[in-house]
Amino acid sequence: MEAEIKMNINTLESTSTHPALLGSLSPSVAPEKVINFSPGPTSLPKAVEKQIAASFNNSGFTSLALSHRAPEFLKILNHTLATIRKVMEIPDNYELLFTHGGGHGQFAALPLNLCHHHSDTATYVVNGTWSARGRDEAQKYCNVETIDGKDKRTGNYTNFPVLSEADIDPQSKYVYLCSNETVNGIELHRLPKLPESRRHIPLVVDASSDFTTKPIDWQGDGVGVLFACASKNIGHPGLTLVVIRKDLLGKDKASPLCPGVFNYTINSEAGNLWNTPATFNIEVVGFLMDWLERQGGVVANERRCIAKSQVLYNVIDNSNGFYGTPVSNKVLRSRMNLPFNIKGGDQQLTDKFLIKCWERGMVGLRTLTPFGVGDYLRASLYNGVTEEQATSLADFMRCFANENG
Ligand code: PMP
Repeated sequence: MEAEIKMNINTLESTSTHPALLGSLSPSVAPEKVINFSPGPTSLPKAVEKQIAASFNNSGFTSLALSHRAPEFLKILNHTLATIRKVMEIPDNYELLFTHGGGHGQFAALPLNLCHHHSDTATYVVNGTWSARGRDEAQKYCNVETIDGKDKRTGNYTNFPVLSEADIDPQSKYVYLCSNETVNGIELHRLPKLPESRRHIPLVVDASSDFTTKPIDWQGDGVGVLFACASKNIGHPGLTLVVIRKDLLGKDKASPLCPGVFNYTINSEAGNLWNTPATFNIEVVGFLMDWLERQGGVVANERRCIAKSQVLYNVIDNSNGFYGTPVSNKVLRSRMNLPFNIKGGDQQLTDKFLIKCWERGMVGLRTLTPFGVGDYLRASLYNGVTEEQATSLADFMRCFANENG
């Protein structure tokens, strides 16, 4: 792995390939002109980034150097927890936990916490890369049943399957879904209701790439656990937020094999301080939540997310096929991650597009992922991207299509 990383850096320094085509995020424009469309980690809103920078100029310690048991940090921790609860309207019967290990940590933590026995069943709705990855990890720890949303004709994930009673074992410990498939660009703008006879089963939601961008009806939708790795909409890598309904906690609920750092009950009883939490990252999430509150909260944020994505989908849909996007069902199109290709994936034009974007400071549209380069470019429009910035990309896409169509 280390060798692989070195190779990428060396490639960037020595090759004649244009840096834009290697996924470089450092175009030769003034820093304030750079627009980061990366799928995460990515930039936070400018005001939040300024607040982070200012925290380093304060005299005294930054939260990077604060003991996690010091009163100064406890104040930060309590503030962050309280503002998340307020902004996301999380009821009192839910606990908020910060964990290490990212989204992948939660892929393992979920079955280990909610399935006491290896033979317990969990139902996974798989409609994209990340729900598939969550399901694959869970298979190590419990009996998994899958509701597969793959399009049988194309072999691609472009839809969300119907959740029918027949497909959900009534004994299932939970039903798992991903509310925004970051790679595939499929989003549930509201959580689905389980069939009436299955509403006793807690819903588990991977909201890593859409948390804070729309309201959640916690009780009404039967949310049992929701988790979000921080590095897209709310902060930096190294921190994951878990929201868990308190009746799912309890001494003997988890598998005896569940590691302490992942055990929801242990961490809840220890007030998020069973081991050393990511102190600085927690403070940053607090800054972000304060910002969201100042911007009018989650409902106003959803309006912004709709507007940002709409300007881009409009360009794609009105381009007479110059641009394509894989999810034709508009109800499921992601507002967070917009996959698009150029003339059906024309390599030369795509490279030209990426270089021209990079020269204008627009970066992160093609990133390297563990799943390869992928057929589509992707514009990610998290909280760090403004409406004006989304419009800049849309304007450029329109011009590019006119010049090259
Ligand atoms: N779930 C979703 C929806 C994601 O987008 C990602 C990361 N891109 C993950 C899980 C995995 O998170 P991590 O890399 O923090 O393990």
